[in-house]
Amino acid sequence: MQIISDPKQMQSLALEWRAQGHNVALVPTMGFFHAGHESLMRAARDHITATAVPGKPGGKMLVSLFVNPTQFGPNEDLDKYPHDLERDSAIAASLGADVLFTPKSDAVYHPDHATWVEVPQLAQGLCGQTRPIHFRGVATVVCKLFMLTQASAAFFGEKDWQQLAIIRRMVRDLNIPVSVKSCPIVREADGLALSSRNVYLTPEERAQAPYLQKGLICAGDLFRSGEKSSAVLAQAIREYWAENLPLGREDYVSFVDPESLNPLESIETKGLVAAAVYMGKARLIDNLLLG
Ligand code: AMP
Repeated sequence: MQIISDPKQMQSLALEWRAQGHNVALVPTMGFFHAGHESLMRAARDHITATAVPGKPGGKMLVSLFVNPTQFGPNEDLDKYPHDLERDSAIAASLGADVLFTPKSDAVYHPDHATWVEVPQLAQGLCGQTRPIHFRGVATVVCKLFMLTQASAAFFGEKDWQQLAIIRRMVRDLNIPVSVKSCPIVREADGLALSSRNVYLTPEERAQAPYLQKGLICAGDLFRSGEKSSAVLAQAIREYWAENLPLGREDYVSFVDPESLNPLESIETKGLVAAAVYMGKARLIDNLLLG
């Protein structure tokens, strides 16, 4: 596995690959890998195997590791974001990455960077309420990564559902020739969704954190037993959290259409319940499809 940090070198190699007939499967990350990241790398590897044509050049797997400053708000954890490049390189190599792309921020953004990709309709609700510039940063950097890596397929986790919906919409609206693939949420044995930020949790917070998802599951159970009102379902989650997640402070609980992310007053056939909770130094997110 090659480690490349120069964006120009990355793009030259990617263009060379494409000219030779190789397809590129991209896994964008911010590093400090866990089993969630690993599942995306495995999916990328499986995609390359499944789309291989005998006698034609094979696919290339590219993992990007970039803690993108433009998606962090002023009081967020940009400076503290956990990292372990040595361990991450070993993981990416063991899962078959051809390149680990690790650019530096000033090589990605010119000092007078002025072009942004925004999908405001999908970015305003859910996490966008407390992270107003987050998805503009995400969409812009993902667009840049698509250009730099010439990806034909890119892999994202359903844990960041809103991010996934925004990237799908950006790709559709801007006719970007990338196939966006999603992978299910990978969880700890007790249900907590894996996140690089889980290291911020104290032992007490870590013990309560799984109740974030369990609250959503309560709403799922209620929905299956016939309750359709978002307000009633949200109330059930809040009551459950009040009892089981006292160290958590709700950021939001929302019921939305899974694709448009429009709020739903009632869930008739299908909906997504998404939530974020502050716990000490961490902010945890999770979601569950209903129907
Ligand atoms: P991050 O490094 O946190 O920006 O995440 C990189 C990619 O991994 C994103 O597409 C995330 O949605 C995905 N990801 C993060 N955590 C998980 C998880 N627990 N399960 C599945 N995918 C995940």
